[in-house]
Order: sequence, then structure tokens, then C-alpha cells
Amino acid sequence: MNDRAAAEGLRITILGSSSSIPRADRACSAYLIEGAGRAVIADMGTGSLSNLHRYRLAETIDAVVISHMHADHFLDVVPMRYALKYGPRSNGKRVRLLLPPGGEAMLRRLCDSFFRETADDFLDVFSVCTYDPAGETRVGDLRLRFAPGMHYIPTFAMRCTLDGISTVYSADTAPAEQIVALGRKTDLFLCEATLAPAELEFGARGHSSAAEAGAMARDGEMRKLVLTHYPSHMAEAELSSEARTQYGGEVLVADDHSQFDVGGS
Ligand SMILES: [Zn+2]
Ligand SMILES: [Zn+2]
Repeated sequence: MNDRAAAEGLRITILGSSSSIPRADRACSAYLIEGAGRAVIADMGTGSLSNLHRYRLAETIDAVVISHMHADHFLDVVPMRYALKYGPRSNGKRVRLLLPPGGEAMLRRLCDSFFRETADDFLDVFSVCTYDPAGETRVGDLRLRFAPGMHYIPTFAMRCTLDGISTVYSADTAPAEQIVALGRKTDLFLCEATLAPAELEFGARGHSSAAEAGAMARDGEMRKLVLTHYPSHMAEAELSSEARTQYGGEVLVADDHSQFDVGGS
């Protein structure tokens, strides 16, 4: 971690940019947000703990926040537990594991299915709690707020703010006014772009295309758009040009280990 950058603003490191199918050498959804001496991971999809270890040990994370209980967004909580239980530790701190409503019961059922003791024993390295999607959650000076996405199960986009600097992560969602509102004038909008142009959904929707991500960034007057959770067969240039049909600001495409600094000098 670059302490100087984190001390002055927010640093976002992409730990997983794949959608539900991990691409070669690319993990599923996970985003490390550092600032004011704190470290939060938004989602922990498959393979992301390995990427985290390039930067930090698991025990140095203050909180893991899960947007929704789809496997590509939370499964690496399981190896993180092993890292916290058996890996190198210099403190006995429990890492806060902030789950969406209903998430704790689901995680406990999962743990009960493969762990010979109880889920309580398995999860005892974490401080597990359910966040209030209508409220604010604080991790030191980082402030987290949420908005419901439009997905197949309950899902929450999140905004992380530090002294007026912010980043917003869409999680999985179809275009949604409440996410546009959550993201209003944010410095960096991390938005899913799961759908290729020819794959637009009909009926109940749960994902966005790159052009729809661009439209949300435009409508929310967001300052920068980073596309993530996109189809493996789409080239970076194709994704960004799709988004630019709707949005005139800067468009970037996330890759694992991309880093973005917002705020500060
Ligand atoms: Zn997903
Ligand atoms: Zn999902």
C-alpha cells in the first residue's frame, strides 16, 4: 500500500474484475478501498484473497462488506477465515464481516455443510454483523452508505466517503435510479457491465451493459467511470466505446491489480 496516497484520499485496488466466471489469472468481484489508515474490501469473490496477498495480510483488513450472497461476490470469505485462523498473525483482532440482510443465515448454512464443528467456531475470527442498508456504517473515518440494486436477489450498491471524497460500487444491478442517486457526483463509479450489447435482458432484469453503465454515470454526473464484472469475450476498447456512447467523462476498464487514487494531491 502507498501510505501517502491513502493518507490523503482513497485508493481503490481491483482485486477481482471478472464476472461469475473467473477469467485466466483474474479473480471474481473484489475491491480494496484504503484511506485514513483503514482498509475495507467490497465483496470477496473467488480468487480475490490470493490477489489481496500482493498488498496486505488478511489480518490488516478492517472490514469486508458483501453486496449480495452470490458466490462470485463472497466465496473467498472462506479461505480468508483460514488465513485469519492459521496464517501469520500479529494481532488477535477480529475482522468485521458486514453482510446484507439475510446473508448471515446463508453463510452459516454454508459453513455448517462442510465444517465439522459449528458455524460459530468457523466464523470466530470475524465479527459478523448485518449492515443496515438504510443507515450509515463507519469504519474509522470511512463512511459507508448503501442503495438497493436491481438484481435477482437482494443486492446493495455502496458508497464509501472520506472527507467529501467518494467512490461508489454498483455491485450487480440493472440500471437503477437509486444507484444513480447514491452515486451522484462521486469521484469514481465502479460499475458492472455484465451484458454484451446483443445480450440485453428481457423481463426481470439483473445486470447492465457498458452503455447502461455509461448512462448511469451521466445521469448521476459522476466524475469517472470504471467498468468491471464484464464479459470475458469483450475487448477493453469495445467496452469503453460502448460506455462513451452515453457518457462524456473518463471511462476506464478494470483489470485485476488496477489502482485508482481519488482525492489528495
Ligand atoms: Zn456477480
Ligand atoms: Zn449477482
